[in-house]
Amino acid sequence: MSSKVSSNAYLELHNIHQSFGSHQALKDVSLHIAEGEFVCFLGPSGCGKTSLLRIIAGLDTPTSGVLLQAGKDITHAPIKHRDFGIVFQSYALFPNLTVADNIAYGLVSQKVSVNDRRARVKELLATVGLSGSESKYPAQLSGGQQQRVALARALATSPGLLLLDEPLSALDARVRAHLRQEIKQLQEKLGVTTIMVTHDQEEALTMADQIVVMNQGVIEQIGSPQNVYAHPHSPFVAEFVGEMNFLSAEVTGAGQMQSGQLTLHCDQSTHLMQGDKAQLAIRPEDVRFSTNQHDNNTLSAQVIHLEFLGSRVRSLLKLDNHKRPILADISMNEMANLQLKQGQTVQCQLPQDRLHVFGGAA
Ligand code: ATP
Repeated sequence: MSSKVSSNAYLELHNIHQSFGSHQALKDVSLHIAEGEFVCFLGPSGCGKTSLLRIIAGLDTPTSGVLLQAGKDITHAPIKHRDFGIVFQSYALFPNLTVADNIAYGLVSQKVSVNDRRARVKELLATVGLSGSESKYPAQLSGGQQQRVALARALATSPGLLLLDEPLSALDARVRAHLRQEIKQLQEKLGVTTIMVTHDQEEALTMADQIVVMNQGVIEQIGSPQNVYAHPHSPFVAEFVGEMNFLSAEVTGAGQMQSGQLTLHCDQSTHLMQGDKAQLAIRPEDVRFSTNQHDNNTLSAQVIHLEFLGSRVRSLLKLDNHKRPILADISMNEMANLQLKQGQTVQCQLPQDRLHVFGGAA
């Protein structure tokens, strides 16, 4: 487990525990988030990401632990004394209020004058690309437009922290991809520290500065999208962020593993000892097709299935002496050269600098 400690932390979570009856939803979660960072809490359903966001928002109090925002202990601060804006999955706009009144809602309680409110609403609508929609009602807007209004409402008071709870998951794929970019650009422009909860790895990879990968109430890994993808600390992270093939193996020497009949070399150093069980892992895009069966880590495989994925082709390969097939992705250019066919026997290579090694049996 890792946790990022940054000297200019804006939000600090120290040893947060959350229990619901006998169920421990969060177990000793510590995390530091720097000012202006875009952080994604990423994990499968039930891993505790929403519970953590609710604690940060003050919607729930943790069983134990401390939460600091800009150096101030806010663990028990009531919501009205907290400095954040929030966007939920379900838009949560007031249906009986106009767009303008929805956005200005938080400004009214801050006693901002009518003229200033009107100007701020206009500015925010321009920011989210909905100029001129002041007098519309939520029901007259599409899902994507409603979510833009929800975003404008969350930003109206210029909060120090923006919390996004699966804001895109109710939208269809095209709107989602578009809004993803817009939110990211807006966040960069405003520099507002942002936390987004998502179970969608693509969303986290494309939007986050830091990804916090969660599993069963604990943080499995924290890092930049590039780092988490290239250097997963556990099989869970390897499989949850991106796609990964796994082969079970046994350590037979320094940088050498035996997987079935196959002797594999790998560059990654580990603390594993000879005789230890291991899992070897490789991303589909790292599997190569080779014409030279004497290259290191080269083995015969049969192409079981080919799938056209637009910019690339995915093949399902049955390796000799291995039950579990593996995936290999190649570009359309490579495909044109290789002319792979279903049923064909090929030589595939698992490059030793691309193999990840994890201790323990599968
Ligand atoms: P999802 O993506 O499905 O929303 P999540 O990662 O956000 O999942 P949480 O909603 O944080 O997960 O829930 C973590 C665990 O705590 C789950 O097992 C959930 O059933 C449990 N839990 C959450 N809130 C409560 C509650 N109010 N009472 C009892 N159990 C709860």
